[in-house]
Amino acid sequence: MTQKKWKENFIRIEPYSAGEQPESDDVIKLNTNENPYPPAPGVAAALRAAGIDGLRRYPQADGKDLRLALAAARGTDPASVFVANGSDEALALAFRAFFNSKKPVLFPDVSYSFYPVWCDLFGIPYRRPATDGDFRIRVRDYAAENGGVVLANPNAPTGIALTLFEIEEILSSNRDSVVIVDEAYVDFGACSAIGLISKYENLLVTQSFSKGRALAGLRLGAAFGCADLIAVLGAVKNAFNSYLVDSVAAAAGVASLADGAYFEKRTAQVIATRERFAAVLRGMGFSVTDSAANFLFVTHADLDAAALMRYLKGRGILVRHFSLPRIERYLRITVGTDAEMDRLTEEISCFLQKS
Ligand SMILES: *Cc1c(COP(=O)(O)O)cnc(C)c1O
Repeated sequence: MTQKKWKENFIRIEPYSAGEQPESDDVIKLNTNENPYPPAPGVAAALRAAGIDGLRRYPQADGKDLRLALAAARGTDPASVFVANGSDEALALAFRAFFNSKKPVLFPDVSYSFYPVWCDLFGIPYRRPATDGDFRIRVRDYAAENGGVVLANPNAPTGIALTLFEIEEILSSNRDSVVIVDEAYVDFGACSAIGLISKYENLLVTQSFSKGRALAGLRLGAAFGCADLIAVLGAVKNAFNSYLVDSVAAAAGVASLADGAYFEKRTAQVIATRERFAAVLRGMGFSVTDSAANFLFVTHADLDAAALMRYLKGRGILVRHFSLPRIERYLRITVGTDAEMDRLTEEISCFLQKS
C-alpha cells in the first residue's frame, strides 16, 4: 500500500466549473455570456499605447487611474472604489473579508454557482432560501438572522432582476451584516444599487468589465462601497497580491469607460436582440423568464434540455445546461448577434420537428 499521508492535508474542494471554451473558432458560442461585439475602439488604441517597455515596471499598486475613471463614471468617491482581476476576484476577496460569522450567509437556491464554492473554500456556513415557483427571490427570506447576504442582480442563470425598492427592503432588514449585490449583468437592464452605498455602509456592489464591456479576457472587475469596506478589501487583496490590477488591463479599462456612446449602442443592440429572440422562442412553445441580462433562461414542456444542448453542440452551437436540482429542464442561452440567434432558431426548429 502506498503511503501518501501528505495528501491527507490537502484542502477538499469541489471546483467551480466554467462553461466550455472550444479550441475551434467556427462554433457559435452562446454558453458563457460573452459579448458578441468587440470592445470599444479606444481599447485597441490604449493597448497599443501601453507598449512593451511599460511592462518592465510594476503597475500602480492602488489601481488609481482606473479607480478614478470608475468613480467619475459612477458618481462616487474614489475611496469607495476597489478594482480587481475580474469581479469573481472582487467577490472571492469580499467573501473572505466580510463573511467571518458563525451564522450562515444567505443566497438563493438558484443563483451563481460560484457562491457555494467560495463558502466551501473559506469555511463559511451558508443557507440557500428557495426562490419561488417562477424563480423569483422572496425578499422576506432575507430578513432571517445571517452572517451576510449575496444577491446577483440580475440573478444568474435566470436573468430575473430585483427592483431597487426590493434591494432596499433587504438592506433595511440587514443592518448587522454585509450585503453584497453582484451586478455582473446590470448593464443589460437592471437598476444599479451603487446609489445606495452612501446610505447603507454595509452594502458592497460588484460590477464586471466582462459582459457589458466585452472585456472578459482582460479579467477586470470592480467593487463599490463605503471607504471602510474598501479598505478591508484592499488589505485582503494585498495579503495575496499587492497590485490590484495589471497595467495593461487598467489602461484598457479606462479606455472602455471613456466611450460611453459605443457602450450604450452595443448594449441597446444586445437588449433588442434578446427581446426579439425571446418572442421567437415563446412562439415555438418555450417558457422564457423575464431576463434583464444578456442571456435567456428557457424551458420547453416537450423537450429534454440536455438532449437539445447536445444536439446543438453537434450542430456547432454551444449553450449552457446545468445538471442541478430545479433547473435541469432549462437551458441558459447567451444573446449573440441577430445572425447567430437566427441560426440557433433554425436548429431548434429542426430539433423540435424530429422530437
Ligand atoms: C460572469 C459573472 C461574474 C464574474 O465576472 P468576471 O468575468 O469575473 O468579472 C460574477 N457574477 C456573475 C453572476 C457572473 O455571471
